[in-house]
Amino acid sequence: RSSQPDTLAVLHLRRDQLVTTVLKTYDDENLGYDEGKVTNTRFGSYPHSTLLDQPWGSQIVASKVDTGSRGRRQQKRKADDIDSSGATEGARTPKTPVAAASGFIHLLPPTPESWTASLPHRTQVVYTPDYSYVLHRLRARPGSRIIEAGAGSGSFTHASVRAVFNGYPAEAPPTKRRRLGKVCSFEFHAQRVGRIQEEIKEHGLEGLVEVTHRDVYKDGFLVGDPKEGTSPKANAIFLDLPAPWLALPHLVREPSNGTESPLDPSSAVHICTFSPCLEQVQRTITTMRQLGWLNISMVEVQQRRIEVHREHIGLEYEGVRAATVFPKSVEESIAKLRTVEENAKRYRVATEQGDSTETPHGQTTTGDDDTDKGVADQGKQRPAPYNSGRLIHRTEPEIKTHTSYLLFAILPRAWSEEDEEKCRQTWPSRK
Ligand code: SAM
Repeated sequence: RSSQPDTLAVLHLRRDQLVTTVLKTYDDENLGYDEGKVTNTRFGSYPHSTLLDQPWGSQIVASKVDTGSRGRRQQKRKADDIDSSGATEGARTPKTPVAAASGFIHLLPPTPESWTASLPHRTQVVYTPDYSYVLHRLRARPGSRIIEAGAGSGSFTHASVRAVFNGYPAEAPPTKRRRLGKVCSFEFHAQRVGRIQEEIKEHGLEGLVEVTHRDVYKDGFLVGDPKEGTSPKANAIFLDLPAPWLALPHLVREPSNGTESPLDPSSAVHICTFSPCLEQVQRTITTMRQLGWLNISMVEVQQRRIEVHREHIGLEYEGVRAATVFPKSVEESIAKLRTVEENAKRYRVATEQGDSTETPHGQTTTGDDDTDKGVADQGKQRPAPYNSGRLIHRTEPEIKTHTSYLLFAILPRAWSEEDEEKCRQTWPSRK
């Protein structure tokens, strides 16, 4: 698997700094780059000619050519409308490469997680800790048919596409993908619809996601025409809307306006609504109860990554502290550690042989003033090295999340007298 033209790639600058770009063999902004499209980052410039056909995970070193300023120069020249075939070209576009900012990136295949971390925010988005839990509770899997509203910035859209197909474009080539599931996404903001449709095309997700420009409170969830359109036959629903209770009357087995139901008649439907206020949750619960939704429950995902480690002040060996202050150099640390190691070994051997003149710090009791005898002399119950030092724990500060209340419920599958009769025939003892 390697990076191919016209596919999305992730430039991993640092753990919390990702840049996504569609790889191009040509300069689509027409800036006059010879190298094809160039992505400029704070760690240097990357002509796409250096990013294409590379195995995913490759480390790519920044271009030595100052493509950024050359691009700007060429753009200016175009604006000035100067004939590029003229004798001035050499003067305006120096052939000698200019040293650029040095650095490197790792080239990674796109995933919903990296897209969520780098996407252009048009709205609040659902972050990975929430959508992972939501998709799990919605039982989303290859073959599921999901209704999503509103699409917003497309964060949840990308995660749900991966869940309902066998992988994500960069992970599985389209021919190997089982096109079983479907994501039907609804959004009433025209510009957001346009942007998400472009992104879906650029990311190779066409045909897997159907985005409909629609006010779902008014016109419901049929694809195409609001009255005559086709049913998504959804078995999972995610509503990230300001008033989910206004959309719920359309998500029933028999809509009151006589249109087809958007739900899968042959299975139970799992729903999740995402609301920041408890008042919104309460109104949604009331409507859910009235419409026959069961197993209603609410969850708030409070993911915190907690970093836990022991802080060692000085050096220790088998519980014997070598120094109560930080050593000044690596050499000093190694020398102290060696002394402590030798003393401890000697002490162990002496103790086994019944020799009580030896102490854990060597024979002298007034020796190395860096040695903390108090710790060693606490005796037989000394902590193991991994268990010593001050226990420190702190919350990782930079984890991005926008938490809301997640409301889950299930609508049982439709059950008719016909179904009951079939059931009686299958299990005659129930007659
Ligand atoms: N879940 C999205 C994501 O992860 O990127 C973010 C959704 S954003 C918070 C809510 C979206 O709902 C907005 O884009 C808004 O335009 C859309 N919306 C609000 N009311 C709507 C309605 N009646 N019909 C369709 N979309 C609606």
